Amino acid sequence: MLTETEARQRVLAAITPGPMQDLPLLASLGRFAARDLIACVPIPSFDNSMMDGYALHAADSAGTSPLTVSGEQPAGIDLHRHCALGQAIRIFTGAPMPTGADAVIMQEDVDREGDTILCREPVEPGENIRRTGADLCVGQIMLRRGEAIKAGRLGLLASQGLATVPVHATPCITVLSSGDELIHAGSGPLQSGQIYNSNGVMLQGMLAELGIQQTQAVHCRDDLQATVSLLHDLIQTQDIIILSGGVSVGDHDQIKPALLQLGISPDLWRVKVKPGKPFLFAKTTRANDGQPVFIFGLPGNPVSSFVTFQLFVRPALLHWMGAADVAPPSVPVRVSTDLSNDGNRPHYLRGRVRDGVFQTQGLQQSHALFALSQANALLRLAEGQTLAAGDVADALLL
Ligand code: AMP
Ligand code: MG
Repeated sequence: MLTETEARQRVLAAITPGPMQDLPLLASLGRFAARDLIACVPIPSFDNSMMDGYALHAADSAGTSPLTVSGEQPAGIDLHRHCALGQAIRIFTGAPMPTGADAVIMQEDVDREGDTILCREPVEPGENIRRTGADLCVGQIMLRRGEAIKAGRLGLLASQGLATVPVHATPCITVLSSGDELIHAGSGPLQSGQIYNSNGVMLQGMLAELGIQQTQAVHCRDDLQATVSLLHDLIQTQDIIILSGGVSVGDHDQIKPALLQLGISPDLWRVKVKPGKPFLFAKTTRANDGQPVFIFGLPGNPVSSFVTFQLFVRPALLHWMGAADVAPPSVPVRVSTDLSNDGNRPHYLRGRVRDGVFQTQGLQQSHALFALSQANALLRLAEGQTLAAGDVADALLL
């Protein structure tokens, strides 16, 4: 059986990033830059005042004679004021520096009388001036290919006068939940033996958290021909299909037989991990345009679906969307109690990290959806590993 690392590597190696598109800035939030973006406007784009005050010659600020206020420069169009020795120009935050002046004195540090000021504190040359390009120069890389577009970076791109940004597209994804026991939440009361489909919306939620908002959810019975026909149709239109349930070895698990009937043999099936052993990954090609279609089969137990999504699907989707960094965020934590894994697979425990301490949360079994819902982190215990209370380990943040 493959280890999680081998499985993840195999999935990532099979996936090619999706197409690029230009999006309006705000719509690109959460996407990944499709190429390096180079600054064409420096920050600041002109020398300007950091304060409301007076532009002057720094040398004049040390003297005892009053300076004549010979003009005013507000923020806005450059009025091309000039400041001669013995003069000051009234200036405001963000306003272009008058020629001649080499410093700005804050208005709080002068006494103004009529058209003159007297400096109470001397200023140094350059003081309170924001110099052209001090933060960002023309030609500098602002954002590297594969970096996430976050709100601060949107501001940076707007500062360049850009209205659109090249990013990778998001994939068309369908989440297919299989199981005769499943009914749709909202479709009425449960009959004995039935459960509401909780994985469908959970997986759609995890996709939305990655910035993939427009997804489709469908249900399929544990019936081979129904599964074959649904999968066949989805392969014609989707980039990625996420299956939940039916990937194990039970008599009613139809996913693998259905794929084989469609001529698709899984690239991998079963991973040495708990929960999530039956995880499956396959790749096929869309008949109409020859584009690849990636299929992830997640075990139906809610915690197994959740964990295998985090371990394998999330990095794959980030890679498809052009992200440079696909590793889940992890932090070192201290464990609150003794923990041990006497099984033969690495175990991802669900728990809460608070103030740097990890505490397992509720029942550690693969159907324990409430315990999962309380968790904000996963902690990996290797097979045979023991941790004593207070030991440090890495937790994956959810
Ligand atoms: P399976 O992987 O199909 O053998 O399902 C394993 C367990 O997960 C069974 O107890 C199923 O009832 C449950 N299960 C399967 N699909 C879902 C789903 N979409 N939502 C909630 N539980 C599910
Ligand atoms: Mg099933």
